[in-house]
Amino acid sequence: MKRVFVAGHRGLVGSALVRRLSREPGVELLTLTRERLDLTEQAAVRDFFERERPDQVYLAAAKVGGIHANATYPAEFIQDNLDIQNHVIQGASRSGVERLLFLGSSCIYPRLSPQPIPESALLTGPLEPTNQPYALAKIAGLELCRSYNRQYGTDFRCVMPTNLFGPHDNFDLDTSHVLPALMHRFHQATRQNAPTVTVWGSGAPRREFLHSDDLADACVHVMNLPEDPGLLNIGTGQDLTIAELAEMMCEVVGYQGDLRFDRSRPDGPPQKLLDVSRISATGWRPRRSLREGIEQTYQWFRDTELAGRS
Ligand code: GDP
Repeated sequence: MKRVFVAGHRGLVGSALVRRLSREPGVELLTLTRERLDLTEQAAVRDFFERERPDQVYLAAAKVGGIHANATYPAEFIQDNLDIQNHVIQGASRSGVERLLFLGSSCIYPRLSPQPIPESALLTGPLEPTNQPYALAKIAGLELCRSYNRQYGTDFRCVMPTNLFGPHDNFDLDTSHVLPALMHRFHQATRQNAPTVTVWGSGAPRREFLHSDDLADACVHVMNLPEDPGLLNIGTGQDLTIAELAEMMCEVVGYQGDLRFDRSRPDGPPQKLLDVSRISATGWRPRRSLREGIEQTYQWFRDTELAGRS
């Protein structure tokens, strides 16, 4: 049996990893709530690794949020992410963890990268200012993994997922990413028979979305490759405009009213589409269409809301 630690198991990515790894033969899962292990506390993380000595680590714990949350809490977005990743990566190295998977984000790439964005675009130009603190923390994490590998011979792998969604996401209307925010807003508007729903920005930016279960599958696939494949983008290779996403969300939720675009809100980068040819060449591809993923997530959202009310 391999002891596998999933850091951040209550979040969008961590919970999907737990679902996926519990179907994997020979895996003993190790998870701890924030109350029992605060990853921003260096000594606690060091003691945890010395005591538990996991064989593998999936580092899915991070401070994350949408465009507004990044603008409102820039200090926490850089500080907490640096702390968490520094402590986990150092603890894993010291205690002899055999493999670790670090999850970055597509926002590490320059704002005006070629589209679709190849892994080679890293550090070739200025970042998107709306999430620079978060992106810099993730770039530092990536470099930390590479440096440990070079100096100490560790096997710490790095993947860069595109925009994610799924169960256990943050659905808060102010701080979440666009997909859960629109789902929640259209759901509320349908209930209240509201004649219009506001979508932030111009609706023109293009984004790519991947369901968290597909991401978890890709993570396990990358972890199980015999050799470190180097930095790998994870996405679907397809994007759509925010306006098209909003239309799809209306259909899934059943909202019949009008959309209003609030251009006083920032658009962020004009396009973020990952070049997924490298991960495709290793034999992985996503299973769910965007529409299926949104339908499944909406079902979960409604079930959770009902359970919360009963
Ligand atoms: P990004 O991909 O890092 O820019 O992060 P977001 O998911 O927060 O935003 C993606 C795009 O969706 C941006 O152009 C936003 O302005 C737009 N958007 C439209 N409505 C919303 C909303 O209700 N919440 C969020 N977070 N973004 C929205």
